[in-house]
Amino acid sequence: MDIRYSAEAEAYREKIQAFLAEHLPSGWSGIGALDPEARRRFSEDWRRTLHENGLLAVSWPKEYGGPGLSLLERTVLAEEFTRAGAPTGGDNDGFSITMLGHTIMAMGTEEQKRYYLPRVLSGEDVWCQGYSEPNSGSDLANLGTRAVLDGDEWVVNGQKIWTSDAHTANWIFVLCRTDSGVPKHKGISFLLLPMGQPGIEVRPIININRRHDFNEVFFSDARTHKDNVIGGVGNGWAVANTLLGFERGDGATTDAIRFRDELDRLTAVARDRGRLEDPVLRQRLAAAHSQVEVLRFLGLRTLTQSLRGHQPGPESSIHKLIWSEYRKRLTELALDVIGPGSTTPSGRDAAFGISTDAPGSPFSTQGWVTTFLGARPGTIYAGTSEIQKNIIGDRVLGLPREPRMDEGPWASSRS
Ligand SMILES: Cc1cc2nc3c(=O)[nH]c(=O)nc-3n(C[C@H](O)[C@H](O)[C@H](O)COP(=O)(O)OP(=O)(O)OC[C@H]3O[C@@H](n4cnc5c(N)ncnc54)[C@H](O)[C@@H]3O)c2cc1C
Repeated sequence: MDIRYSAEAEAYREKIQAFLAEHLPSGWSGIGALDPEARRRFSEDWRRTLHENGLLAVSWPKEYGGPGLSLLERTVLAEEFTRAGAPTGGDNDGFSITMLGHTIMAMGTEEQKRYYLPRVLSGEDVWCQGYSEPNSGSDLANLGTRAVLDGDEWVVNGQKIWTSDAHTANWIFVLCRTDSGVPKHKGISFLLLPMGQPGIEVRPIININRRHDFNEVFFSDARTHKDNVIGGVGNGWAVANTLLGFERGDGATTDAIRFRDELDRLTAVARDRGRLEDPVLRQRLAAAHSQVEVLRFLGLRTLTQSLRGHQPGPESSIHKLIWSEYRKRLTELALDVIGPGSTTPSGRDAAFGISTDAPGSPFSTQGWVTTFLGARPGTIYAGTSEIQKNIIGDRVLGLPREPRMDEGPWASSRS
């Protein structure tokens, strides 16, 4: 593991710092400092600024609309943006760029890359993720949504659930069963569907924070062109896992910066309230500090491996498991720092319902309660902690596999 950056990467850091100094509003202290309406307006303008300056999807080559930065430059950019409390994309870009865009770049045809990637960057296409179903979450390959070819089109029937941002997206990537006569992992295809059609209905689900973040999505003879398959018909399981590698591992090199900022702000709250005199609480803050350092070094290891040409794979589960479990502990600690006031929260709400309290956020009990509740699903989405542990055991450490009901003597005819 090498923790030094090259001279070129440090020179690039200066360029990015200059860009941020030029384009961020004066007096900027992080996106969390803006009230909700100002934040919405800033986010829209900021994404446009990033697009105009070629700073979205910075690993993509120039012919697909990215600046084609090296991995090290990309990391430096993400570090500087994170330090400044400035987003590296729009609200939906986790789905549009990190998940779908990177996956099309890795497994799409030339035609699909040239058609879809520029539309992702311009914001013309906004994506959501249709993986989970009522009877297939952890056991994703058990999915029942079906797609059948009818002339030049796939006809899709079934239901997805927990579909984040389906109400703001105009496209959905959907794992569908296209062949029921083969083992279940082999009969899946990864389809792209436009949302604005009579065969797709989106119904809201309100979450624990009383927010409308995710939905149920129903497909009743929904249609898409037969060429809208990524990775080939029947190869959807490989595509799905490639995408999950991006989803789980994307923040590996930068999350520790956000977590450090959040921990510093919590430590300041504890200091202001005289809670640092409590030795047990101090010990928990020190443990949180150590865990953020562990994440930082894991990030550096990931970066070093990536620079040697290693693609994100099952190791991204290590990062996903550690950060999501850490944030549950950290936000429990936050409520203990606040004390009984957390049962009657007041003040401004957190900027985001999920992920860290936003950089620059003013202290409020409501903000930390929302952040606490928003940390709970971190150990569920993108695969639960138990599933991450199974992946790490089976595929990273090479331990004997968990027994499965769909293999060996228990297998049904379809599995
Ligand atoms: C906030 C949020 C946003 C989400 N957004 C999306 C989205 O945009 N698109 C999408 O497709 N999905 C989304 N999901 C769904 C998410 O991926 C699933 O909830 C998750 O994969 C778990 O599936 P499940 O809910 O069906 O739980 P289940 O799979 O039923 O699991 C229930 C429990 O059993 C445990 N378990 C299951 N199998 C095993 C095993 N083999 N070994 C050990 N333990 C096991 C699990 O760990 C869990 O504790 C989202 C979820 C949340 C909470």
